Amino acid sequence: MTFRADLHCHSTCSDGSLTPNELVDLAIKKGLQGLSITDHDAFDAYPEVLNYATQNGLKMVTGVEFSASLNGKSVHILGYGFDPQNKELKAFSGRHRDRRIARNRELLEKLLKEGIPLDENELYASASSRMIGRPHIALLMVKHGFVKDVRTAFKKYLGDGAKCYVPGPQFTIEETLDHLRRAGGKPVLAHPHLYDGKKFVKKILDKGFWGMECNYGSLTIPQNAPWHSLAAELGLHKTAGSDYHGPYKTNAELGASFVSEEVFTLLST
Ligand code: AMP
Ligand code: FE
Ligand code: FE
Ligand code: ZN
Repeated sequence: MTFRADLHCHSTCSDGSLTPNELVDLAIKKGLQGLSITDHDAFDAYPEVLNYATQNGLKMVTGVEFSASLNGKSVHILGYGFDPQNKELKAFSGRHRDRRIARNRELLEKLLKEGIPLDENELYASASSRMIGRPHIALLMVKHGFVKDVRTAFKKYLGDGAKCYVPGPQFTIEETLDHLRRAGGKPVLAHPHLYDGKKFVKKILDKGFWGMECNYGSLTIPQNAPWHSLAAELGLHKTAGSDYHGPYKTNAELGASFVSEEVFTLLST
């Protein structure tokens, strides 16, 4: 069987619906040989999930997806192969949690002004995750009948530029890359198609990345093609992932995009 590894998915440690171990089970069921769980700003799944994967014959590399910003625009940075016990990286993740608490509070205040009262305590009790964000707020809005689904919550209220959107405190790309590198991690730019065009992507990449996510689960081969060309032009490694979140979000299925054994091995060493 050819080796396939999905390098981008989310667990209950951030906004995914499956636990880390359930993702391992699903990866095996889908016939994958390798996996990285990349939670938003968190890597609490590690190192425990590595043991579970090893016991079940699945290869894993540590992963995370940090939120950063450039010129006020949100940029997602994947990191692979770092030491999950690294104290500075753990502290950085803790600063992200504080950033999110401040931002969620601002979001709730804006929603209240729109006649949507949500209880902060209920928000934090609604998920075991330490990284609560807009998806959790959207689910709470659905639960209390303020919107019909998560999609509408983002479109009308929470999405970038929508009525109640607030960026909140942010971290720079430079400090994110620095923290990842110090912990032995390799930084990869996530889903380049979601940013403001090739010129802006080049500006991001100027900061120094190991690779770029050139195969994104929900895109077609022609849609991914420009990013393959850009990675080749800049001498970057090409990675792939589904960005699977579970059923709440209509993304690609786990394993929809994958890397070869060669790329996977480069990330693990
Ligand atoms: P946050 O990290 O709190 O800024 O929330 C961003 C996350 O919200 C993204 O990583 C997605 O998982 C999710 N998201 C963004 N836009 C949408 C959307 N239109 N529908 C559902 N989920 C979304
Ligand atoms: Fe997400
Ligand atoms: Fe992302
Ligand atoms: Zn993601």
